[in-house]
Amino acid sequence: MAAALESVRDSRGWTGLGAVELLAPGRATERFPVLDPGFAAVWTGGVGRVDGRLFRDAALVAAERAGAVRHSGRAELVRDGDGVRGVRVDGQVVLDGDAVVLAAGAWSTELCAPLGLRLGLGPVRGQIVHVELPGRETAGWPTVMTLGEEHGHHYALAFPGGRVVVGATREPGAGFDSRVTVAGQRQVLDAALTLAPGLTDATVLETRVGFRPVSADGYPLLGAVPGLAGLVVATGLGANGLTYGPLTGVLAAGLALGERPPFDLTPFRPGR
Ligand SMILES: Cc1cc2nc3c(=O)[nH]c(=O)nc-3n(C[C@H](O)[C@H](O)[C@H](O)COP(=O)(O)OP(=O)(O)OC[C@H]3O[C@@H](n4cnc5c(N)ncnc54)[C@H](O)[C@@H]3O)c2cc1C
Repeated sequence: MAAALESVRDSRGWTGLGAVELLAPGRATERFPVLDPGFAAVWTGGVGRVDGRLFRDAALVAAERAGAVRHSGRAELVRDGDGVRGVRVDGQVVLDGDAVVLAAGAWSTELCAPLGLRLGLGPVRGQIVHVELPGRETAGWPTVMTLGEEHGHHYALAFPGGRVVVGATREPGAGFDSRVTVAGQRQVLDAALTLAPGLTDATVLETRVGFRPVSADGYPLLGAVPGLAGLVVATGLGANGLTYGPLTGVLAAGLALGERPPFDLTPFRPGR
């Protein structure tokens, strides 16, 4: 536990975390009442909580207010000589420009394939379960994550109105299969109840399935593509895309405009 505390303290500078406090067994339940009281915990301030759907919708509204035009359908990259010049949606060219940012998540590989570019990126399925604790006010509860080999990497986070989200599976072999599976449910719920036995009587609301875009070495793919002028790839954010997405978007937009990035992006170059 002391090592965990030190590692969190060490990361404060670059993560922007606030205060750090060691909570002896029994104390963590003061903040997240359904936890197993036997767990000691490291509490950190300054951690955010994001509703992914709300975040996406807000980003779309902001983009449209800034002049972006939204087209729905199946997109393809338009090749022009030795470069990429635009985007076709459902067979119609809707964008014709000097640069295109490809940010199609785990699907980016198939969009690049017709250009002869192998991205080396694939989906890692995640099943995540939403439950409800009727009558409980959960808005102020912090996010809880397990540390260390013994309990694997699991988490629980609460939203207002008694909603608690627990997850998630990491299934690299599942491809784009979007089914909720029995094994996935069992894995998530077993881990959730080990962490937080007070969820035993919670109502299961829904299970969501998503595909994390994961590169061969696990690092993001961000940058121009040698030999394909005009294409900027921005994907491979894996399990951290909600966190790194805004920064990645800013960096990708700068690259598309021909600006020099504020730090060295070589480690993330696509096709490495
Ligand atoms: C269960 C789970 C839990 C997660 N938890 C966290 C977390 O706690 N914190 C965190 O930071 N991240 C988390 N993530 C990771 C995060 O969701 C991803 O990293 C992030 O969504 C990647 O964003 P993206 O925009 O690159 O790709 P995506 O979100 O996958 O978006 C790509 C979009 O492109 C569209 N698209 C693809 N191909 C085409 C095409 N040909 N035409 C038109 N549209 C197309 C897709 O439909 C999709 O909407 C989690 C992921 C999962 C699955």
